[in-house]
Amino acid sequence: MAEQEAKTCAHEPCLCTVAGNDKYCSDACRDAGSREVEIACQCQHPACLDSV
Ligand SMILES: [Zn+2]
Ligand SMILES: [Zn+2]
Repeated sequence: MAEQEAKTCAHEPCLCTVAGNDKYCSDACRDAGSREVEIACQCQHPACLDSV
């Protein structure tokens, strides 16, 4: 019943997990995702900084 599963950010290159109802982990991802451009994630979260 409880939906506590972590989802991955809707921004494709982003490796972050998102909790709750948000699709994106940050405004940076929301902005990038809405433009549908494949740029490196700029959310500044550790998971993404590692991948650069
Ligand atoms: Zn990210
Ligand atoms: Zn993200």
